[in-house]
Amino acid sequence: MSAKCLRLKLRRPQCLALNHYSATHNPSPSYVLGKGLCEIATMSVQVLAAEMAEVELKDVPSKELTPESHLTTKADDKEIVESEPKAVATSASTPTMEPIVKTGDPSPGFLIPNTKMPQASAMKRTDPQQNGGEAFVNRDGTVAEAPRLKKIQFADQKQEFNKRPTKIGRRSLSRSISQSSTDSYGSAASYTDSSDDETSPRDKQQKNSKGNGDFCIKNIKQADFGRREIEIAEQEMPALMALRKRAQGEKPLAGAKVVGCTHITAQTAVLMETLSALGAQCRWAACNIYSTQNEVAAALAEGGFSVFAWKGESEDDFWWCIDRCVNLEGWQPNMILDDGGDLTHWIYKKYPNMFKKIKGIVEESVTGVHRLYQLSKAGKLCVPAMNVNDSVTKQKFDNLYCCRESILDGLKRTTDVMFGGKQVVVCGYGEVGKGCCAALKAMGSIVYVTEIDPICALQACMDGFRLVKLNEVIRQVDIVITCTGNKNVVVREYLDRMKNGCIVCNMGHSNTEIDVASLRTPELTWERVRSQVDHVIWPDGKRIVLLAEGRLLNLSCSTVPTFVLSITATTQALALIELYNAPEGRYKQDVYLLPKKMDEYVASLHLPTFDAHLTELSDEQAKYLGLNKNGPFKPNYYRY
Ligand code: NAD
Repeated sequence: MSAKCLRLKLRRPQCLALNHYSATHNPSPSYVLGKGLCEIATMSVQVLAAEMAEVELKDVPSKELTPESHLTTKADDKEIVESEPKAVATSASTPTMEPIVKTGDPSPGFLIPNTKMPQASAMKRTDPQQNGGEAFVNRDGTVAEAPRLKKIQFADQKQEFNKRPTKIGRRSLSRSISQSSTDSYGSAASYTDSSDDETSPRDKQQKNSKGNGDFCIKNIKQADFGRREIEIAEQEMPALMALRKRAQGEKPLAGAKVVGCTHITAQTAVLMETLSALGAQCRWAACNIYSTQNEVAAALAEGGFSVFAWKGESEDDFWWCIDRCVNLEGWQPNMILDDGGDLTHWIYKKYPNMFKKIKGIVEESVTGVHRLYQLSKAGKLCVPAMNVNDSVTKQKFDNLYCCRESILDGLKRTTDVMFGGKQVVVCGYGEVGKGCCAALKAMGSIVYVTEIDPICALQACMDGFRLVKLNEVIRQVDIVITCTGNKNVVVREYLDRMKNGCIVCNMGHSNTEIDVASLRTPELTWERVRSQVDHVIWPDGKRIVLLAEGRLLNLSCSTVPTFVLSITATTQALALIELYNAPEGRYKQDVYLLPKKMDEYVASLHLPTFDAHLTELSDEQAKYLGLNKNGPFKPNYYRY
């Protein structure tokens, strides 16, 4: 029976029932997810099974199992496909007008490819010249080191790295550090960081208490502190802990060899230990030279994880660590978990043959996803990849709520500013801008918004913010915050016109939003007044307060809420499980989004934290809305 015939034969509720039935009878990880969904929605499998008995199941010609098929399920190893409704995207290679316009009910085991680049992604570019750290600029423009901190040059200068005789050698220096790898992160978090010990971790013989030395970190003695950090994070990561419990009986990642490159923080440690509980072996490097919590890396190494990372790596160290993760005799990764695309890039460049064994890539960041789409477009993507960045549970939570909470934290820690009555202009009213504006408004600030998009602009107006052009308010505002994902939003002309004491910072991914380079001129004096805080002083004595040299404020100067990271980390774990267990052919060499059902599942795992009570659809209501009682509850084009 063809897919078309099947579509005619199956009524939609039956399709959905079939889908659910299959999910709960499928020995793949979809089964694990199906169970979870089943528990949440308390749907009777028996009733569904009875409905299923009426459905004739036949094979579908393989050529019809294309990515555009939007409803797939497995039964008796035969796949059943309902073709896409006409109104939706019909080809994985045809960019859609909507982010995802597919409607329907993909099973947890079936993911929808998306070829539309998110707008923000298209704007992100790697900046080869950014750096971070602690330094003063003297009046004559020379750079002086801050006490006890490493010398880091400014964004418009080339950063000096250890020229160490390594296997990677100087060639590795030819590629600039990616944006993600140089965004300074979590400076406040690493309280056990010992800047007294200047010996490079690469020069140390390291072993944990069990004699294992397959790691390279700052100091294994910090392991106990790190363990406490991890335990604190576990309290706020309920979904990962739930996945661990659920995995006690079965190990959906048994045999998985995951090589990871992410920020090495307590939250990542919870993710790694969850993956391990699910059966995976993990080797990990940091995606950012500043973001590693040394004590957490120590705890992971003590626990037997092969971690290669420390806070304040040089670029050469950065690639060396990645290489140590990947290049090990007798061990080959079969899954990649990346944040920023550097690990993926390294394997492509150095060990392309490894892709023969790799089952898939899970990528979290805007930048990394952008690279994957470029590879896909060029026909060079050789394994399936999951775009976690554009999952609803990432974008609508990480971007909005994370920034709503951390903007105040970042500003407070760096400047001790009082927010009440302050005039603030927020550039960009997307998810990040909305979060920043909401937090500042709640603190009693007078908030102005700039926007280029009339829809976001109207939202800002309806939310009670004054929509202005930057030049209309630049003289009067106390704080300027950029969150556009764009470049040159705050240029020298505006910096010149700001009033004395104006605080300038960026919440966007790249350090391109504020033209910091334009401030590196002889007539301006830079004073490093605190970690990540510079006063830039004009000849007439006016000074502006520049935070984190224009890099994203919250990740540079404060910590971010663990609970939000839990949502993203759970999505990453599910993406790994799905890709690792997917039968041959389910995923092509393309970039996929997790289906809405998985997003809903991730959300549902976080609800018990709030003692939240979800309303269940009655049969009558479900029928009226044309929904399965187990979800998905919204079409893919729904914007939340
Ligand atoms: P978004 O696309 O939803 O919002 C950006 C907004 O800026 C859009 O509405 C766009 O119209 C507007 N814009 C673009 N150019 C502009 C200009 N010149 N002037 C005024 N407005 C302009 O993106 P988002 O999810 O809000 O993310 C914004 C940036 O923040 C991205 O770079 C993203 O990677 C980053 N981000 C940061 C964090 C963090 O923790 N700091 C978290 C998530 C995302």
